[in-house]
Amino acid sequence: MRWPRQILFGDVDAMFTSAAVVNDPSLAGKPIAVGGPPPRGIIAAASYAVRPFGVRSAMPTAKALQLCPQLILLPPDRPLYRRLHDAMRTVTDRLFPLTEWSSIDEFYADTTELQSLYPDPLALGRLAKDELYAATGLRCTIALATGKTVAKIAADSHKPDGLAVIEPGREASFLASLPPRALPGIGPKTAARIEALGITTIADLVDARWDRPLHHLFGNSLVWIRELAQGIDREPVIAERESKSISHETTFDHDTRDRSFLEQTLRGFLRELAHDLRQEGLAACGCAVKLKDARFTITTKHGRFPYPLNYDPDMWPTVQHALRDLMTPGTEYRLAGLTLTTLTAAAPGLFDQRRAKAIAALDALVARHGSSVIGLGGVSSEEM
Ligand SMILES: [Mg+2]
Repeated sequence: MRWPRQILFGDVDAMFTSAAVVNDPSLAGKPIAVGGPPPRGIIAAASYAVRPFGVRSAMPTAKALQLCPQLILLPPDRPLYRRLHDAMRTVTDRLFPLTEWSSIDEFYADTTELQSLYPDPLALGRLAKDELYAATGLRCTIALATGKTVAKIAADSHKPDGLAVIEPGREASFLASLPPRALPGIGPKTAARIEALGITTIADLVDARWDRPLHHLFGNSLVWIRELAQGIDREPVIAERESKSISHETTFDHDTRDRSFLEQTLRGFLRELAHDLRQEGLAACGCAVKLKDARFTITTKHGRFPYPLNYDPDMWPTVQHALRDLMTPGTEYRLAGLTLTTLTAAAPGLFDQRRAKAIAALDALVARHGSSVIGLGGVSSEEM
């Protein structure tokens, strides 16, 4: 059967911890997690070996260590992740006509036109898994469906090392028994409100019996949510330009309107991203601050540095200015993100020699102890 549209979604299993094992095979099977050290550090990724202890990403490291005292904590290694990402991209560029990387370890490919070459979707999924593993040593879960949403949900429910095919016409029945929170766009808070109504499955979301409370909850978005709940999803795969930016974002535990908290969050992102730029000999021409409010509206504000920069104290005023412009007083925000845009090679004379040495010394400390040990207060040229 030829599918009207075929989307293949791929997601690396526990990318950061799997990458650590690729880098150091002696870590295989060990209770590892990637994150910052206590007291303030957060787990960025938990290996499958520590998940039975209840260790999860976004959990404070201190709590993870309580749950799993033998936990081996590793600092993030973004240059490694980027190398692996680039190797995966080479594979997907070769296999698929059109690929959209939605994050460092997740991609959508439109494989509609490949059906004459690979009439069996399972065979195509298997090939992609094998090729990605051969190129990187990373295991990937892959799912094929007629739309992006169902493909992603199918992959999520077949992890790790899974392969799933949801045939055309089976979308709604595949989704029916899953909890509403499996749908993208329904976060933990919304899910809790839905569950409080007594709704436990995606099938309930399309049941006319719940029209009134659901309409009250979602308003006009209900039409869109009900389409998703039935697996109707026309969102196209959009191949982005070669990524010339790096970014970081986080969803908060609680919505916030506290400007100093948002500034502190972005300042932390900037510190890590700028460190990565320096490690890779790059500098950024600009930045983009992104906020998502409690009603899921996303706004962004771009800023331009006076010249390409990779030292965060010099970059901060531009980022801070963009954030202040973007914030609306009284609005509660659920997510903040920072992207450094238009990356170029760093000019060799970006800093005078003494300042460059001091920054390199700080970078070495960060490499040894993790970024949270140092509040990079700044190495100003005047103090040198
Ligand atoms: Mg993943």
